[in-house]
Amino acid sequence: MWSEIAQQISQITRRPFQIRDRRSVGGGSINQAYSVTDGDRAYFLKLNQASQAAMFEAEALGLKQIAESQTIQAPGPICWGIAGGSAYIVMEWLEFGYGDESAWRLMGERLAAMHRVQSDKGFGWDQNNTIGSTPQKNPWTEGWVEFFTEYRLRYQFQLAARRGGRFPKQDALLAAVPHLLAGHTPHPSLVHGDLWSGNAAVTQTGDPVLLDPAVYFGDREVDIAMTELFGGFPAAFYQGYEAAYPLEAGYPRRKILYNLYHILNHFNLFGGGYGSQANRMIDQLL
Ligand code: ADP
Repeated sequence: MWSEIAQQISQITRRPFQIRDRRSVGGGSINQAYSVTDGDRAYFLKLNQASQAAMFEAEALGLKQIAESQTIQAPGPICWGIAGGSAYIVMEWLEFGYGDESAWRLMGERLAAMHRVQSDKGFGWDQNNTIGSTPQKNPWTEGWVEFFTEYRLRYQFQLAARRGGRFPKQDALLAAVPHLLAGHTPHPSLVHGDLWSGNAAVTQTGDPVLLDPAVYFGDREVDIAMTELFGGFPAAFYQGYEAAYPLEAGYPRRKILYNLYHILNHFNLFGGGYGSQANRMIDQLL
């Protein structure tokens, strides 16, 4: 497997590459991660079961989409596929450092610039991807209310039902989405889609970077909402973002609705107390 991957890297980069050192990298939740180097060039590599090859392909295309926006850095994908019975993705290796206030302000400004990249095909993306390891459907849809109701909330509720989740007010919540989003007409912005703190980093040279995206074109507020879900980003990030692209009135309530998607997904991935957290959020919204 390793030599096959090294061969792919050589082919794509048009320079011979041999793995001389390989180290396991911690911190990932879903995949096994490694650094590989020939002593000169280094790459970041993730492995999973062969059945997850489509997940890595969608991640590679998401990283490319962010890179093409020329607004904020993301590790460039090199190659992906199946080798020796495992799915893999190889991308540019980045050295992360401590992000000071100015780096986090820049992160906010650059994310705002990414959000100004908008689709003329509506809400969705050219392909489905995953959120964690859960499938995420992105069919092009004209209306945001329909997109978020059907392909974000209802889809997660359906998965949760199969897992034995009980959400007594699910139908009332789904029916209330048009009301909760009334008067709000977001543009289809390029969003990261899974923007918790583990997926935002700063390089040793002070450049903000987005990792592990679940991109689509959606309401930009989904990204800001998620940054607030697990502890929040540094204050400078929000200052930078607001100065570049202010949020609209009514965001604090929509934040709960948008984060319900991620809490339902956490219930589907990890179970536990996330089910009752989702029910509390539904009560808050109704
Ligand atoms: P998973 O998909 O399993 O959640 P991540 O993409 O979050 O894995 O990566 C796991 C860890 O590897 C992260 O905590 C991050 O610090 C590090 N990492 C991610 N991408 C790179 C990269 N391009 N270069 C160096 N380290 C990286």
